[in-house]
Amino acid sequence: MGRGDKTSFWHEEWTGSGILKDIFPLLYKIEKEKNCTVLERLVTSEENPSYNWKWKKARLSTEEDIERLCCEFILQEMHLSNEVDTWVWKTGTVDQFSVKSIRSLWESSKYPELEYKHWWNNWVPLKVNFLGWRAVLNRLPSKQELKKRQVTIPSTNCDLCNMAEETCEHILIQCSWTEEIWALVRDWCGMDFTGTHTMEQRIEASLKMGQDNKKKKKTANAIVLVTLWTIWKARNKKTFNGRRTPPWRIIEEIKSQSYLWVKNRGRNMITNWGEWQNFPFEIH
Ligand SMILES: [Zn+2]
Repeated sequence: MGRGDKTSFWHEEWTGSGILKDIFPLLYKIEKEKNCTVLERLVTSEENPSYNWKWKKARLSTEEDIERLCCEFILQEMHLSNEVDTWVWKTGTVDQFSVKSIRSLWESSKYPELEYKHWWNNWVPLKVNFLGWRAVLNRLPSKQELKKRQVTIPSTNCDLCNMAEETCEHILIQCSWTEEIWALVRDWCGMDFTGTHTMEQRIEASLKMGQDNKKKKKTANAIVLVTLWTIWKARNKKTFNGRRTPPWRIIEEIKSQSYLWVKNRGRNMITNWGEWQNFPFEIH
């Protein structure tokens, strides 16, 4: 491979993690010039990598944006090796783009924000893990965050309750609409969120669930991450499409989505859908 000016950004396997078009199908869909080269998208500098994205639309949806964050995470680990003129992972050989490889990257990384030890859960997709991590760091684009970055918005009030300024924590924890959802999750699976006021504390609470049983811990954690994911998606639906999803519908979505992921990705899970709906922790 040359310097990246002849290598297709989306179609060739140049990152060591897989073909980007396949890993990030949503991004590929909104790419303006699908035959662009690596050099056209990646501005490499050791200290500050940046990206020349060209999207077909002005604003990315949540799922697209999470893919972009994941993609940039891979890209910031790439640099052009002077000696051999090839792209390599800074950290050495990583065969597969997976939660496991990302986790080891994370642990060895130099980024100060990663001091927070995020517990990666491979029973839910990477994008859901990423959202959890961003939420803990308060790095979701809430209206308050956008205003800080000088984005013009008519009002910073929460679209769901219209009672408070929309911060990351308001959306995920404090909003009356969100509170109802968390209460339904608690009633469903018996997780105790008493005294937890941040996303980090909720994630910790889920990890305490299974002190006696690893699978239980992982399941509880998956449910909290899926809850977060579902809340964030529904919030965006309200903000961008004006449709408010009632909490009872959200909990149904959380139950079925977490069931699908845990069932498919967690091995030896015996629970069937009927049992899961009633109580997900009958796990042996
Ligand atoms: Zn609210």
